[in-house]
Amino acid sequence: MRDLDASRHLLRLAGGRELTYDKLLLATGSVPNRFEWPGLSDVKEGAVHFVSLQHLAECERLTPTTKQAVVVGGGLIGVELVECLVHHGVEVDFLVRESWYWPMALAREEGEIIAGHIRAHGVHLHLEHEVSAVTAAPNGRIAGIRTNHGLDLPCQMLGICIGVRPATDWLKEVATPPAIGRGIRITPSFQTPLPDVYAAGDCAEFTRPDGSPQVEQIWYAAKRQGEQAARAMLGDAVEYRPPLFYNSAKFFEIEYTTVGDVTRLPDDARSFFHRLPGPHASIRLIERNGAVIGFNMLGSRWDHTFFERWIAERRSMADVMPQLHLAQFDVEFGRAHLDSARVAFAEYQRRNGLQAA
Ligand SMILES: Cc1cc2nc3c(=O)[nH]c(=O)nc-3n(C[C@H](O)[C@H](O)[C@H](O)COP(=O)(O)OP(=O)(O)OC[C@H]3O[C@@H](n4cnc5c(N)ncnc54)[C@H](O)[C@@H]3O)c2cc1C
Repeated sequence: MRDLDASRHLLRLAGGRELTYDKLLLATGSVPNRFEWPGLSDVKEGAVHFVSLQHLAECERLTPTTKQAVVVGGGLIGVELVECLVHHGVEVDFLVRESWYWPMALAREEGEIIAGHIRAHGVHLHLEHEVSAVTAAPNGRIAGIRTNHGLDLPCQMLGICIGVRPATDWLKEVATPPAIGRGIRITPSFQTPLPDVYAAGDCAEFTRPDGSPQVEQIWYAAKRQGEQAARAMLGDAVEYRPPLFYNSAKFFEIEYTTVGDVTRLPDDARSFFHRLPGPHASIRLIERNGAVIGFNMLGSRWDHTFFERWIAERRSMADVMPQLHLAQFDVEFGRAHLDSARVAFAEYQRRNGLQAA
C-alpha cells in the first residue's frame, strides 16, 4: 500500500491502483530492527534479516555461497536462522549480547540449557558479544565482522536478528496518517482515530490501564486480535484485553512452553526450578502471594490451558505440583518424568519452611 485517505475511504496501492473500502484493517505486521554498525553501509550483499518471505528467499539464494555466517541477536528469530544455516552445513558464529541466551524470556538456568544445546549442534555461541564493525569485500559482499571484544569473524552472511518493530513507516507519509506511537494506536475495540480504520496484530498498540503502550508481537496474540477485530468491524461490541502471556516454540529440538510471568519478577515472587532427567528438560513454577503466576517448561510438550486455568484459579504451587502430569498431553513428543520433580519440590518446601500440600 502506498497511500491512505480515510476521509474518502480510499487506498492507493504501490502500482497506483486505487481501492475503496467500507472498513479497513491495517495488519502490516513487523519489520526488522537494523543498526548501522560502522562499515555496514559498504555491504551490498550478505547482510540479511529473517522476518519476511522475501528475507527467507534472500537467505536461500545466498546460502550455497556461504561457508561461514555470523548471526547477531539472541532471541527466537536468531536461533531459527542459526538452525536453518546449520541444517545447510554452514559454520555459524552466534552473537548474544546478554550473559545468557534470551533473558527476556528465560531465566539463567533455562538459558544455559539452550546454550548447551546450541553448542552441541556445532554452533560457536559467543555470549556478551556484539558487533562493533563490519567489513565488505571489494565486490560488496560481506567479508567479516569484529565484535566488541575484538574478535574477528570472517563470514559471507551476517544475519541481523536484533528484534522487530511495528511496520508503520509507510503510514507517516499518507494523506491521513493514523495516530502512531510504538505501533498504530488503537482502542480496545481495535479502532484508530480515523473513521472506519482498524488495526490489529504486530503493528497495533494498545494502551495499558496505567497509560503505558502495549504491543503484542507474537503469533497467538495476532490470531486472537484478528478474530476480535473482525467482530468489531462487523459491529459487535468488543473490548479486547491482552490475555495472560502464552507462547510456545522450539530451540532446535527443545520444546518450549511458557505461560504468565516468568521473568522480571517482583522481589516477593518465589521460583521453583528443577532439571528433569534427560538432557534438556526442566520445569519452573513461579508463585506470588500463595498463587502460581507463571510456568516455564523446556524439553517436552505441555497443554497451556491447564496452566492458564491454574493461574486464573490462584492455585498454590503445592496444589499444582501433584497435578502437573495432567498438563502433559502430547505422547508423540514425549512426556517428562516428573517423579524427581516431586521429590525436589518436597525438598524446596522444607528448605523454604513451606507447608507440604
Ligand atoms: C522467524 C520468526 C519466528 C517467529 N516465531 C514465533 C513463535 O515461535 N511464536 C510466536 O508466537 N510468534 C513467532 N513469531 C512472530 C509471529 O510470526 C508474528 O507475531 C505474527 O506473524 C504477526 O502476525 P500479523 O498478522 O500481525 O503480521 P504478519 O504475519 O507479519 O503479516 C503482515 C503482512 O503485511 C504485509 N505488509 C506489510 N506492510 C505492508 C504494506 N505497506 N502494504 C501491504 N502489505 C504490507 C507483510 O508483507 C505481511 O505479509 C515469529 C516471527 C518470525 C519472523
